[in-house]
Amino acid sequence: MQRYFGLFHFFLFPILIFSACSPRGSNEQISGEEVVLEAKGEDWVIDDSEFEIVEEIGPLEQSLIDAGLVDVEDVISGIFVDLKYSTTDNFFGQDVYGDLMRCYLQPEVAEMLKKAHEKLQEEHPELTFLVYDGVRPLSVQQILWDNLDKPDSVKPLYVADPKVGGLHNYGVAVDLTLAKAETGEALDMGTPYDYFGYPAYPDREAQMLREGKITKEQVANREILRKVMKHGGFSGIGSEWWHFNAYSRKDAAEKFGLVK
Ligand SMILES: [Zn+2]
Repeated sequence: MQRYFGLFHFFLFPILIFSACSPRGSNEQISGEEVVLEAKGEDWVIDDSEFEIVEEIGPLEQSLIDAGLVDVEDVISGIFVDLKYSTTDNFFGQDVYGDLMRCYLQPEVAEMLKKAHEKLQEEHPELTFLVYDGVRPLSVQQILWDNLDKPDSVKPLYVADPKVGGLHNYGVAVDLTLAKAETGEALDMGTPYDYFGYPAYPDREAQMLREGKITKEQVANREILRKVMKHGGFSGIGSEWWHFNAYSRKDAAEKFGLVK
């Protein structure tokens, strides 16, 4: 709604000026669907479809665009994005992304994700991706590091050290799950996003199944995600079912700079 408003003002303002100057007084009817302006006996209808939506871009998002990153929703249609670090529903309980609501990745990585999504659509047309995180600028990584209430020695178990940088800081890692294409409702993967513990570990699934901590259905859902991500060229990690890397750290460092 906020994004729509700027443009709405842009169009509405001259209409109101015109109307105020009109000796016949105001005759405009404004609805959510269209703006109708009666002027000198003629009806002018400006349909919403003619409105180009103007995006409000904050300084953090602009810095990502300037660094050559792309909005994944511009590359892949039909996916959902819910940046958990732009809400308080995350491990830190803080919104550290502010007005950044869109997910950015290196262009090559967004193309790989597109390939994975095409495979998903081919095999499970009722499903899509729900993306939780993509690039994480170093400035944000520093905030996470500083606010993590753990001794420095164990902090790397939870977040990458901003002095070193993690693959999210290069824009080559993505956190995501599967969701129903129609509603965006996430599939049950056995744990929430950013759950720290063995039930979230892909490399502990056999043990977690034996212990009844996760179910076969949850593992089957993870396997669909892993299969299509692998098809796109990503590799998973042993401790987070939602995290996928497009490049190794060495390749990422050679190919891309850390995103400040
Ligand atoms: Zn991740």
